[in-house]
Amino acid sequence: MTVIAFRRPRPARPVNWCASCGQDFTSLEYFDRHRVGEHGLDWPEHENGRRCLDIDELGASGFRRDDAGHWFDPARAQRASYALGGSTDRPAKGRNGERKAAA
Ligand SMILES: [Zn+2]
Repeated sequence: MTVIAFRRPRPARPVNWCASCGQDFTSLEYFDRHRVGEHGLDWPEHENGRRCLDIDELGASGFRRDDAGHWFDPARAQRASYALGGSTDRPAKGRNGERKAAA
């Protein structure tokens, strides 16, 4: 069994918690992004084996922790916010390009 040094205990209210490394993510997409390597190959026996990004790699990939300790990607979250019409200075466009009234 491989012990990963940065493994954290399961949080009281996990969102997308990884049982391998103990990190928790605000979305399944972010969870998936922290898993790298080829399926079917064990790491570290295989250099390209399936594993979790470590904390330094998460930071280098643009991930940050929110106040609750969940990992998220601020740049991705910002793009999603613009796409959904939230947190932007300009009014959001509807499906057909019409401007939506402020809520
Ligand atoms: Zn993990």
